[in-house]
Amino acid sequence: MIADRIKNVKDSGTMRMKELAGQKKAEGKKIISFTVGEPDFDTPKHIVEAAKKALDEGKTRYLDGPGLPALREAIAKRAKGENGIPCETSNVMVTPTKQAIFMTIMATVNPGDEVIMPDPAWVSYEPCATLAGGRVVPAVTKEESGFRVLPETVAELITPKTKMILLNSPSNPCGSVATKDDIKGIADLAKDHDLVVLSDEVYEKIVFDGLKHHSIAAEPGMFDRTVTISGFSKTYAMTGWRLGWLVAPKPLFKAVGKIQQHSITHATTFAQYGGLAALTEPQDCVNAMVKEFSERRDLIMRLMGDIPQLHCDTPKGAFYVFPRYEGKMDSEQMALHLMDKAEVALTGGSAFGGAGEQHLRISYATGKKNIEEGMARLKKAFA
Ligand code: GLU
Repeated sequence: MIADRIKNVKDSGTMRMKELAGQKKAEGKKIISFTVGEPDFDTPKHIVEAAKKALDEGKTRYLDGPGLPALREAIAKRAKGENGIPCETSNVMVTPTKQAIFMTIMATVNPGDEVIMPDPAWVSYEPCATLAGGRVVPAVTKEESGFRVLPETVAELITPKTKMILLNSPSNPCGSVATKDDIKGIADLAKDHDLVVLSDEVYEKIVFDGLKHHSIAAEPGMFDRTVTISGFSKTYAMTGWRLGWLVAPKPLFKAVGKIQQHSITHATTFAQYGGLAALTEPQDCVNAMVKEFSERRDLIMRLMGDIPQLHCDTPKGAFYVFPRYEGKMDSEQMALHLMDKAEVALTGGSAFGGAGEQHLRISYATGKKNIEEGMARLKKAFA
């Protein structure tokens, strides 16, 4: 009954642990959940109000495939002004972020093409590439270089079959942030070898310590070969809205647009009005959430310092820590063990690739009280 192409695709490791934590809670366990990367804040009120107003005004019908014109314009303005990407409104497609990743890979990767992507990396990149018939080539990142994807690592992996380099900065699961030099070096490789770049920048606003996010599509000569993807989920606490965007040069935009037309048609109409409010109203809510994430990061790093069996350098962005642990269990067993014994839910590092083994991903997009209690439980369990 099931098509061959899906047989080797694994379940999403993050979603699986989230669901398991939910089941345990339903059984009455007092689980502290560090599983899924989802801000615990409510979507800011003005965004909710804008979507409600749209519903009240009957904005419940089809739009054109690429999305609400005013929202596309607002995204283009931001991509140009804040990211330095030389795009026009016509390069912007509104679509759920994950859908953007899936469509971009489907529209560019032929069977047998090689896709270089970080390892560890977010759980869904590899399945998307596999579904397209591509071959995943892991660019292993190291703790000692802050889990950044280094141009010299990528250079060694390029072959005549390489089609795409996939980037994700700030990164899930490591919280690494690419430097300007990293981005420049990878851009040079992409140009020299005529490669497509998919740059997932969904955590672009969640960077700490005064660091700056760099978009590779802003590098000279890169716009024509790059699809930049971002969204509302993480920046505006809008995970359930399923709303994001991609910015692509015309030929790629057209190819991706066909998949959008033949799959979801377009992103939900009234949700797009919420997205418009998110981008065009003052950004104080974003600043407040990022400040809170930064404080939580400092708190979790301080508490982790008291657990001798966990080792982790301070991440620079996103809302994850990815410590290495001491212990004989593999990371999946360890995650299940901690759920059972400590009632702490997190994701085993191997869900993010082979290089994630012996690590745990802790999402600290949850309140400080939870962080304190969860880390105290982990300390006890590791002791
Ligand atoms: N990206 C988030 C995570 O890694 C949300 C889950 C998902 O969509 O995979 O936890």
